[in-house]
Amino acid sequence: MEPEKPWTATSAIIAVDASSFCYRVCSACERTLSGNSDVCGFCDFRAFNPGTIGSRRVYRILVSIASGTEVFVVICFDRAARVLFGCSADEFFDFVKRNPFAGMAAGKVLEGELFRVTLSKPKNGNAQHLRVASIVPLRPDFKPAIVALRRLYG
Ligand SMILES: [Zn+2]
Repeated sequence: MEPEKPWTATSAIIAVDASSFCYRVCSACERTLSGNSDVCGFCDFRAFNPGTIGSRRVYRILVSIASGTEVFVVICFDRAARVLFGCSADEFFDFVKRNPFAGMAAGKVLEGELFRVTLSKPKNGNAQHLRVASIVPLRPDFKPAIVALRRLYG
């Protein structure tokens, strides 16, 4: 049984699905951009100079965590994922583009780390994964994945 209210527990990361870790939003209104579109349909036609409104990437990544005897696959959005990765989704995307195995390596770096995780039920009733409302590393000298990756890949 999943509780209805957000709850907090000590959890270990057991896997990070880095195969799909971000999506793009309009940099003006933060609406999700669909497919390969670079242009926000909502903002662009209101823009003084159409085509000048950019996009940026934000994280949405599935993470498996173990808490007590249970394993959950939970979804980390931008704020929580930045704690794990230590950089913006755009920076991480560029890093993975230059270093194709960095996504997988990030998962390895984070595996086994302990966090104090607050999970909440998705607001959208159809969403299938609990979402990470907040995540705080328990190890005082925890370094986000990008620190190790920069060391690994120079
Ligand atoms: Zn927009």
